Amino acid sequence: MYDTIAAISTAQGVGAISIVRISGDEALEIVNKIFDRNIYSFKSNTINYGHIIENGKVIDEVLISVFLAPKTYTKENIIEINTHGGISVTNKILELLLENGARLAEPGEFTKRAFLNGRIDLIEAESVMDLIDAKTESARKLAISGVEGRLSSKIKKLRDKALNLISNIEVNIDYPEYEDIEIMTIEDIKRFSNELNSEIDDLLKTSESGKLIKEGINTVIIGRPNVGKSSLLNRLLDEDKAIVTDIPGTTRDIVEGSIRINGVLINFLDTAGVRETTNTVEKIGVEKSLSLLDSASLVLLVLNNNEKLTDEDKDLLEKTKNKKRIIVVNKKDLDSKLILDLDHVSVSAENNDIEELLNKINELFKLDEINDGDMTYISNAREISLLKKAKKASNNLVEALNNNIPIDMLEIDIKNIIDYLGEVTGDSYDNELIDKIFSRFCLGK
Ligand code: GDP
Repeated sequence: MYDTIAAISTAQGVGAISIVRISGDEALEIVNKIFDRNIYSFKSNTINYGHIIENGKVIDEVLISVFLAPKTYTKENIIEINTHGGISVTNKILELLLENGARLAEPGEFTKRAFLNGRIDLIEAESVMDLIDAKTESARKLAISGVEGRLSSKIKKLRDKALNLISNIEVNIDYPEYEDIEIMTIEDIKRFSNELNSEIDDLLKTSESGKLIKEGINTVIIGRPNVGKSSLLNRLLDEDKAIVTDIPGTTRDIVEGSIRINGVLINFLDTAGVRETTNTVEKIGVEKSLSLLDSASLVLLVLNNNEKLTDEDKDLLEKTKNKKRIIVVNKKDLDSKLILDLDHVSVSAENNDIEELLNKINELFKLDEINDGDMTYISNAREISLLKKAKKASNNLVEALNNNIPIDMLEIDIKNIIDYLGEVTGDSYDNELIDKIFSRFCLGK
């Protein structure tokens, strides 16, 4: 039993309609105090016309949606008040709800209740947030697949398999004398464990694709001034977004744009050319470029085919050597003066000849392997890390079996697998973690 919470669920700002939501045991009672019709006369899942009033004065003309427990998002009574959009109206109605006994909801608290009340599991809850954050069609598909429980059911099946394995082993250990109990031979256990291991592995393998779809590839284009970074960005985006000149130091701020390959959003940041400079504005740009490297998931380090390698180039090669990077030798249409014994691609931004670079990006992130038809990919960092732990326990199990370790010593690994998979879906959880997860949600969700 929880207290009654309220929040504005739509974005704060001016719009045609806003929604103020209230959930909890006292939702009906509270709204009834500020509504000009008897709310108890409304059936569940209905929308009802009326007015919000304060001291006999009309605050707004509204539509009220009534959802009665337990078949609601939170499994509690929920009322959604559709008000005229606008900051003042919505705030006023929220204020009235709070004055009459509701508490302001924390971010994500409605969804947290849906989880705590057992309507959705943790994967489904996290997918709700991903759905809201989705910036591409593929990210949306991925998230809705999670919301609908397809990923959860895969994980639950794996967990059931592990549970089945342990119960069989326990029965065999505890009641070896019972003849009518199916005896699991070591061979059976090995087969079962190998199966489990490879299924966890399959799911983990798809997580790379899941992460790419969800997060995209944050790509920083870096290089000395005038090597053709802006030209390259324009070719990649197929538009003239960045200013191209032959005056070094033109791009002083960051220019950004994105393309999509197989549903994966690749976000390119064109940075100020990196060189020693005394110009203050340019200097800030250069510092910004270097700091962007830290958060990049891919670096395109651009060099000029028509010039010898400079000390600045060497410095950048050194600075980016531990990053996922592609060395792009631009201006391949000009005479080659560059000597470079590192793996690279050659392009000519000027002539729109960038195929080699696109192929390399494809190859590096295995974009061809992404199948955006089947979207039951695991993509969330928390879920991936738990799955990795389950995989480790499962590797231990397989190894122990191969080394003929006594069966009763295997139980700990199987129990670990069960626990980790349970944590993924939230079958077991600790409160602090739950608070942390839901605090990342937006208010009113
Ligand atoms: P940035 O300072 O690195 O962003 O370089 P820009 O994109 O502004 O390009 C600098 C100069 O190089 C411009 O005059 C471009 O037209 C020229 N340029 C860029 N790419 C190529 C290329 O592939 N071939 C040739 N010949 N010139 C290029």
